[in-house]
Amino acid sequence: MSQNTVEIITIGDEILYGQTLDTNSHWISQELDHLGLKLVHKTTVADHEEAILTAFAEAEKRAQIILITGGLGPTQDDLTKPCLAKYFDTPLVIFPQALAEIKELLKNRGRDLNPHNVKQAELPQSCQMISNQLGTAPGMWFEKNGKIFISMPGVPREMKKMMTDIILPRFKQRFETDITVHRIIRTCTIGESVLIDKIKPWVDALPEQLVLAYYPSIGQVKIRLTAVGNDKAALETILNQAVADIQPYLAKYIFGYGKEELEEVVGNLLLKKKWTVATAESCTGGAIAHKITAVPGSSAYFRGSIIPYHNDLKHQFLQVDKGVFETVGAVSEACVIAMAENARTAFGADVAIATSGIAGPGGATAEKPVGLVWLAIATPQQTHTWELRLGNERSFNIELTAVHALNKLRQTLIEID
Ligand code: ATP
Ligand code: MG
Repeated sequence: MSQNTVEIITIGDEILYGQTLDTNSHWISQELDHLGLKLVHKTTVADHEEAILTAFAEAEKRAQIILITGGLGPTQDDLTKPCLAKYFDTPLVIFPQALAEIKELLKNRGRDLNPHNVKQAELPQSCQMISNQLGTAPGMWFEKNGKIFISMPGVPREMKKMMTDIILPRFKQRFETDITVHRIIRTCTIGESVLIDKIKPWVDALPEQLVLAYYPSIGQVKIRLTAVGNDKAALETILNQAVADIQPYLAKYIFGYGKEELEEVVGNLLLKKKWTVATAESCTGGAIAHKITAVPGSSAYFRGSIIPYHNDLKHQFLQVDKGVFETVGAVSEACVIAMAENARTAFGADVAIATSGIAGPGGATAEKPVGLVWLAIATPQQTHTWELRLGNERSFNIELTAVHALNKLRQTLIEID
């Protein structure tokens, strides 16, 4: 087995039954990755002695470091401590330091020590205690035959504090790990297969040490580049070069990097321009407004939204001419132009987005299939429109329209600048 391999064991019936989402192992995986430690396996086991002991034994065969979360409470169903004591053949004894820390924590919370709390100060004798700054269950560190077992509470904030303050710094000191650096390039409104074709020359020319991965979601593809090595500055240089080199192939579709979301990028552009935005959404039912308002601070640039689903409301609130419905219909360029321009004035916004389409599954006609969407963006200077031909699944069409609308707004804001 190679050095620096890790297995995570999460303990708890509630995780197996789907009542609690195992966010602990997700978070730990990311931290290990940053540190260059190699996660080789994840296990989730029930609150059951035999299952836990078996999991320990199997993990020990696969990895050098075993990180355990959960089951440290004082109640009957919390079995991790007795299992560890059994596994390492050591008795449970009161650790005076643990007792002192628990007393101190309770004192600060204005509570008295009860027998349950005393039980939490009992730890397997051969372990090294890990202080818990945020709760009453201490963590444990065991070393035997070159293997490290670390047990932490299940409560995510307690576990994270222990990892960040104590465990990860110790790993850093002790293991010579390679550094892993990632770059994530965020693209939208280009499908994965088209994207791959477009960037083929760039992919072919990438230095061998870079690993490439694609993560598609509706309307978006994340391109992740990973470099592993021991010289961080050199890795950064290679990655920066690769990001620069991809621009000629994809510039129009790249909206951001790393964790930046499209709606955040749009929000920042609006802030920079000191512009406000409003939406008039028929087929998207507020999905665009929802994305915009998911960004903290969006009240600085978001004026409001109207969802005039019925034609009479499109007429009443946004002055769409009744003749439009009778001639070209609500899913038309004429309709979204009127919606966007009148929403812009009605809401006192600098720019307004309007959508009208057939999200499906019903509502199609011979000329207007499911997935047909008209999109308009009205600015003080002019109104732009786009005809989109999307898919035949309702939620997909709504999400994809919202992504297109935000991206068109992004491009509009950049072009006007
Ligand atoms: P306590 O002393 O609070 O009982 P514990 O170490 O016994 O702590 P658990 O009883 O397993 O931990 O879980 C405590 C809380 O942490 C529960 O709310 C549980 O849902 C949550 N939790 C446990 N394991 C995980 C996990 N892997 N991911 C996210 N949350 C978890
Ligand atoms: Mg518990």
